[in-house]
Amino acid sequence: MKKIVEGIHQFQKDVFSSKQQLFEGLAEGQHPRALFITCSDSRINPNLLTQTEPGELFILRNAGNIVPPYGSYERGEAATIEYAISVLGIKSIIICGHSHCGAMGGLLDQSQLEKLPAVRSWLEHSESTRRIINENYAHITDIEARLMVTVEENVLVQLDHLRTHPTVAAALGRKALNLHGWVYKFESGQVFGYDPDKKEFLAIEETSFSSLSVDRDLPPI
Ligand SMILES: [Zn+2]
Repeated sequence: MKKIVEGIHQFQKDVFSSKQQLFEGLAEGQHPRALFITCSDSRINPNLLTQTEPGELFILRNAGNIVPPYGSYERGEAATIEYAISVLGIKSIIICGHSHCGAMGGLLDQSQLEKLPAVRSWLEHSESTRRIINENYAHITDIEARLMVTVEENVLVQLDHLRTHPTVAAALGRKALNLHGWVYKFESGQVFGYDPDKKEFLAIEETSFSSLSVDRDLPPI
């Protein structure tokens, strides 16, 4: 805790004072550029990764960057998504999985979840991911490669869940929303985006941002 409290003092002394105008401006409201949905994993820092400032990303985090389908018992994610679109007018949603994801590791090896009933229950929202991997990727036996493809497939499954939310479906219908599926490999700093034409994740520096929109028929926003 000492490091964390010292960090607050350092923030107030060094960071806040150098960006005081930015922080004071935030009191007038927020106009974030995107809803960024990612894992709770401490190794991900969305603002650092995207070089954005406070006020630029509306962030939703949970174990496994999961979006429960609309109508699920869990309502927290639905509320955040609804607010992002209906109130903040967000026009881009990114779901960002990551390398070495413990939640996806638990999904693959459920023996790890014996004493974690809440996690096991939560990961039922990734049951489609588990089935896709078990039934379609038997040829990938290397543990690390299998985990990475699980992370990728889970991003696509959660994008499908996202489309079940009425605010998302309606915004997509009026071409006012772009969805993006990303995977962040923190040990190399690379970010891969799903290309729906090639049906694979491509390094984002190799292609333009707009061409990686999952909803190809929509104009880039
Ligand atoms: Zn994770």
